[in-house]
Amino acid sequence: MPSTIQRTLILIKPDALQRDLLGEVVQRFERKGLKIVGMKFMHLSEGMVDEHYAHLVAKSFYGSLKQFMMQTPVCAMVLEGLDSIDSVRKIVGSTNPREADAGTIRADLSMNVPSNLVHASDSVDAAAAEVKRFFKDDELFAYEKITDRYAFGEGV
Ligand code: GDP
Repeated sequence: MPSTIQRTLILIKPDALQRDLLGEVVQRFERKGLKIVGMKFMHLSEGMVDEHYAHLVAKSFYGSLKQFMMQTPVCAMVLEGLDSIDSVRKIVGSTNPREADAGTIRADLSMNVPSNLVHASDSVDAAAAEVKRFFKDDELFAYEKITDRYAFGEGV
């Protein structure tokens, strides 16, 4: 089964902070075996939200989405793992939490948009652009974990 080690960008949104779900969300990624290679709090500027959600600026809900994303700091993370871009999107679940599959973060822990707890990159190109948008090179850390061979290798 061919696979590649990828990095993907996560934003844990203001509703997760307000609802004390930051640890729960991080734990779901950790338990999958994804490696946290970058993590920080940041307050998004208007410009950052406009760039990040450029595909939504014309939507009627965009003003409230922007306000929502700037309510509190967000927790930005870069996760590394086998095919992590698709893998993380599956763990997060689809955009509308009421349509997301049971077992996903959005289905289990949220009910509505925009407060669906997490952003995750949705393609290789988006992940590359988003990691660069939110992290400087020296904020990302390559390191070995003793569990790497179980998570990424053949476990022997
Ligand atoms: P995602 O990649 O699954 O996050 O989906 P999108 O890129 O389409 O949307 C970005 C974010 O905008 C979503 O995660 C929601 O927080 C928010 N959003 C999407 N659709 C709606 C909507 O119809 N109404 C509102 N208020 N927010 C929305």
